[in-house]
Amino acid sequence: MKLIFEKGAPGQHLTLMPACDVPEVNLSRPRTEPLELPHVSETELTRHYTALAKRVHGVNDGFYPLGSCTMKYNPKINEDMANLPGFAQIHPLQPEGTVQGCLEALDASARLLGEITGMDAMTFQPAAGAHGEFTGLLLIKAYHTHRNDAARTKIIVPDSAHGTNPASAVMAGFTVVNIPSGPDGCVDVEALRSAVGPDTAGLMLTNPNTVGIFDKNILEITKTVHDAGGLCYYDGANLNAVMGVVRPGDMGFDVIHLNLHKTFSTPHGGGGPGSGAVGCKKLLAPFLPGPVVAEDGTGYHLVQPEHSIGRMKNFYGNFAVIVRALTYVLTLGREGIPEAAKNAVLNANYMMKRLSEKYAMAYAGPCMHEFVMCLQDLKDATGCSAMDIAKGLLDHGIHPPTMYFPLIVHEALMIEPTETESQDTMDAVCGVFLHLWDVAHNDPQALHNAPTKTPVRRLDEVGAARNPVLRYIPHD
Ligand SMILES: *Cc1c(COP(=O)(O)O)cnc(C)c1O
Repeated sequence: MKLIFEKGAPGQHLTLMPACDVPEVNLSRPRTEPLELPHVSETELTRHYTALAKRVHGVNDGFYPLGSCTMKYNPKINEDMANLPGFAQIHPLQPEGTVQGCLEALDASARLLGEITGMDAMTFQPAAGAHGEFTGLLLIKAYHTHRNDAARTKIIVPDSAHGTNPASAVMAGFTVVNIPSGPDGCVDVEALRSAVGPDTAGLMLTNPNTVGIFDKNILEITKTVHDAGGLCYYDGANLNAVMGVVRPGDMGFDVIHLNLHKTFSTPHGGGGPGSGAVGCKKLLAPFLPGPVVAEDGTGYHLVQPEHSIGRMKNFYGNFAVIVRALTYVLTLGREGIPEAAKNAVLNANYMMKRLSEKYAMAYAGPCMHEFVMCLQDLKDATGCSAMDIAKGLLDHGIHPPTMYFPLIVHEALMIEPTETESQDTMDAVCGVFLHLWDVAHNDPQALHNAPTKTPVRRLDEVGAARNPVLRYIPHD
């Protein structure tokens, strides 16, 4: 397929509006050369983008079990609310008095998400999960520094952690201490005990973790870190298994981030900007990025926390994303939020059970919102890898699960169906998975050749990662 820039010919154009009859304003830095825009007709333009849209696979096209990414359906009412003129047609520099509704929306989001997570204060500035981790770690750093306890330089991270955890810790200036998981996928508590000490700044943990297991020792884990003088960071990128059911704050965590673009149903991937909202307990609130919203009886105001670490992003974060997440929380409500979590867990267990008819699971169930299959035995027996199964799924219109993650499982496929899939869909998808298992045994070459029905076949994924071409270079 050609790029839009490679289409059309000089002279072709489309006219949407009559010529401007308002005097032109002389900008201080006018463009010196005309913009290099493609010359295409309206028909060609429409067909081009429709063709592109047909090549994309999103949640609106079909099953998308990308474990750890929570590709749930994003209700369209979220879009309607974010498009309300009072939210969409404002300027971030407008005086407080003229945007009271927007400030109220921020305040309500902080209150409701604080209630769901057991946190006292919240910032919406971080634009993604990893950005939230970085922010939370800076809060931990500021806390220790403020107490003249600057010797706390180490962050403990279990080996099952999302790769962003150690990366964020290093970016925030900490040294990472890795601790192993036990055979049950949980933190090895003895290893944690010997890792903590006067240099421990904190621990980063996901619970349920990235293998879909809820760590039953969580209270002992957070207490061990607190007793050593450290703080506990909860990676809540994916809260889908526990929202409304159990709260990170009650598990002993001091600071968390939420990926509103995962659990709280705002578009992600290529679909839109993210929001890595960070919540914290009272002890960290004075360090939050500013400004935050406060209500004092006369209205909502933007205030600067006393010892703020400074800004993490301009203005108030991706505001329209927050409105979408707030809409989601309000439409589901007190009953719907835990129900969604429970259905997410139910769906994952349903698929896990059905697929374990043939596939080996990395950890024994029951799982939480996702589960990890280990295809090492299948590969040894048939030569077909997790990659081959994933490519085979593409020919059936199914987006592959997360692959080769977490790193502690070999030939991993990590499946997260989410609560928004029906039993019919899951049955159909399980049927395809089980069929591909048979194909691997009966006709492995067919799987090595897959996909055959997609616009492109197997791509050079290493080349794409190592030598990304992110910019259009005109060839003439
Ligand atoms: C997705 C995810 C992240 C990172 O979030 P981004 O928005 O992609 O930066 C971190 N931790 C976990 C467990 C995740 O699933």
